[in-house]
Amino acid sequence: MEKKINFKPVRESYLPYGRQWIDDDDIEAVVEVLKGDYLTTGPYVSTFEQAVAQYVGAKYAVAFSNGTAALHGACFAAGISEGDEVITTPMTFAASANCVLYQGGIPVFADIDEKTYNINPDKIEEKITNKTKAIIPVDFTGQPVELDRILEIAKKHNLIVIEDAAHALGATYKGRKIGSISDMTMFSFHPVKHITSGEGGIITTNNKEYYEKLLQFRSHGITRNKEKLNEYHGPWYYEMQFLGYNYRMTDIQAALGTSQLKKIDKFIELRRKYVAMYNEAFKDMDEVITPFQHEDGQSSWHLYIIRLKLDKLTASRREIFEALQQQNIGVNVHYIPVHLQPYYQQLGYKKGICPNAEKLYEEMITLPLFPAMSEEDVNSVIEAVKRVVSFYSI
Ligand SMILES: *Cc1c(COP(=O)(O)O)cnc(C)c1O
Repeated sequence: MEKKINFKPVRESYLPYGRQWIDDDDIEAVVEVLKGDYLTTGPYVSTFEQAVAQYVGAKYAVAFSNGTAALHGACFAAGISEGDEVITTPMTFAASANCVLYQGGIPVFADIDEKTYNINPDKIEEKITNKTKAIIPVDFTGQPVELDRILEIAKKHNLIVIEDAAHALGATYKGRKIGSISDMTMFSFHPVKHITSGEGGIITTNNKEYYEKLLQFRSHGITRNKEKLNEYHGPWYYEMQFLGYNYRMTDIQAALGTSQLKKIDKFIELRRKYVAMYNEAFKDMDEVITPFQHEDGQSSWHLYIIRLKLDKLTASRREIFEALQQQNIGVNVHYIPVHLQPYYQQLGYKKGICPNAEKLYEEMITLPLFPAMSEEDVNSVIEAVKRVVSFYSI
């Protein structure tokens, strides 16, 4: 007979895995925009862009309606087109690969490192062909990828690096902030990420040519820049010079993002504190593996993931996941490897191409982690994990 948990939930209310932190300053910032002249592109968009660029130490930033649109813009600026191959990780949100498909390119999945869960640079090299144009590494959970190696590979093969740092605002690599190192870096401002603008995303870059392409791409491929116009009919004149999209961020979003960015240090400090509590609590448990921390990179901890040692447990990941849900813990799984999604299967990607990602997917559980949770919340998660795991321990 199956063992069933019979103890009462450790907490009465449901704790989500991630959630935004909004305070009165944020609300005031948004209300101010609503009372003003600009709702769409107004002064706050460039204020926000400058604030993010300054924070990460990049020369330029271009805000987008969401992070996926920003990745699409980066693929366009990198010149990805029909038939170009772009190497990325399967252990990510679908957007990291979808942006390549939007441009007619071909996502190529390189397997992850079993320890860091990040893309393995050796596997990147194995996947390079004469069609490879770019690499999209993902700083998974907030832990920076091995940027030195990846940039070296890119240089050797003349590839562009578009870093998906949706998880990594505020993370550092060898003392430098993520966002200032790769050719282009994307951040997302979805409510579960480090700071939010509702929906929102941004590309940071030190390259002026990419910067100008991104600006134009975000607004239908239109420019009013006199230096770029082919003709000039008068003050009303603009030119649509290539096919772009309406991917603009609103001033409402940008005001919220700007206000949120002021709190980033506090947000990251709280995330790090809660991670230290989790690590300490789980370090002697035989049944779980806690996150590995690469010494070159300081994570900004978007996600906290434990890996189950299934041979030390009598239950499956699913049973443990469901038992934690019954304890009112908002667990999650990041991610179902992208190449296993039905759409990618239809495109011909086969199970088995990334064995590490596929194996880890079966063993991982994401625990709640966000600055607006309290120490008591963290302790309730610890208590629930300990109880459930020891209940199912062999
Ligand atoms: C959130 C996220 C994105 C996309 O961001 P949106 O703003 O939701 O479009 C892309 N990649 C990763 C890894 C993400 O977590």
